[in-house]
Parts: sequence; C-alpha cells; structure tokens
Amino acid sequence: MKVAVLSDIHGNLEALEKVLRDAESWGAEEVWCLGDIVGYGPNPAECVRTVRGVASAVVMGNHDAAVVGEIPLDDFNSEARKAAIWSRDHLAPEDIRYLESLPKKLVKGDFTLVHGSPRHPIWEYVLSHSVACASFQHFDTEYCLVGHSHIPLVFQLQEDGTCAGGALSPGNELPLEGYRWILNPGSVGQPRDWDPKASYGRLDTERRLWEIVRISYPVEKTQSKMKEAGLPEKLIARLNFGW
Ligand code: ZN
Repeated sequence: MKVAVLSDIHGNLEALEKVLRDAESWGAEEVWCLGDIVGYGPNPAECVRTVRGVASAVVMGNHDAAVVGEIPLDDFNSEARKAAIWSRDHLAPEDIRYLESLPKKLVKGDFTLVHGSPRHPIWEYVLSHSVACASFQHFDTEYCLVGHSHIPLVFQLQEDGTCAGGALSPGNELPLEGYRWILNPGSVGQPRDWDPKASYGRLDTERRLWEIVRISYPVEKTQSKMKEAGLPEKLIARLNFGW
C-alpha cells in the first residue's frame, strides 16, 4: 500500500493542498497525519476539514492539544501561544470536537503513529541518537512514525542495541531493511531544516520503501493571509527560510 505521511501542517492550506495533489499523482492510497494540523498558520479550520476528509489515520499534536485546552498554553513561547489562541478563535465547535477526539498513539499494521515520541507522544522530540534509542523501547511494532521536530530524520536500531541515523535528503528511496526504524516526514506547513518547501513522506508498505518529497507552494500567499490575520511577524518571516 502507498501511504502519504504528513505531519505539522500548522494551518498552512497552500502547502497542504500542494502536498495532497502530489500525493495523489504519486498514487497514494491512504493519507496518515502525525498531528499539529493547527497552530502558526492562517487556515486552521480549512486544514482540519481537509485532513478530516482525506486522512485514514490521525494523531494529536501538541498544538492541537493546546488549542482544545488539553495542555496549558503557558508551555508555549509567546508567538506560538498567540497563534494557538488565534487558531482556537477561528475554529468551529465541530472542528474543536474533532481535534479533541484524536488519539495520541495509533497503530496501523507494522507502524506506530505518534506526534512527538512513542515515550511522550505530545511533547518529546526525537532528535538525538540517545532519545531515539530510548524510544525503541516504547513501541511494539517494527516501525514508528513521528513528527514534531519539523525535520525529516530517520533512526535505526542496530542489532547491538545502538542507534544510527540522521537527516534524510529528498529523492532517495530508503529501503527499510534490517531492524526497526523511526521515521519523520518533516513538516508540511512550517519546515525547519532551511528548506522552505513543504515536506512529506512517501511510504510503500509492500516494497518497504520510505522517501522524502519536497514541494514548492505559494509561500507569499500564506504570508499575506497571516499578515492580514495579525499573526506574529516572526512566524510569517520564518516561512521564507524554512526555519
Ligand atoms: Zn509542529
């Protein structure tokens, strides 16, 4: 089965639509979403409704949790907090109910889906070998899909118990051979690896292949909507740099 794996959309409808179009032309049979549908961007409701319409598996992210009041907004920096409050005010009760209903961990076949890490699904970042190593003890499937860091990363548990891995550049089909893997598709709506293009993962579960794809989208359009909405300048500017 061909699965488009999306994470950290963050209310960026232009990026989401472009990614979904690309996934469709690739022949994606399912869409999985690793959370943070809202926060930062100017179209939270449209993104919630789009994901709800297309995705067959969705988990809750920290921004989704904050917007529905499940975690305190004090845990966020001031820009993220402002954007979360703005997002909450621009969601219909039905959108809020949908976000509230999302699980924090989900298993689809050989894959565990979480936003942060399998140990702490909402908040923990899997960025280092040590956290990745610890993470392997907190899920039972062969693979785990994570988001949250907004960086396309892969980690593999070696037979000696150590972990290897790091950034994965686009255009390389990674064979998911050998032992267990943790895979991060990067961010659709706010990339943070100095590449402003939207990022998503193509997963072929039969051929056991994983690939990162980067997609251009009209950044200025998203930015002008953010300006109009009065969202923080810093959040608008960072979309230019992919950071
Ligand atoms: Zn995020």
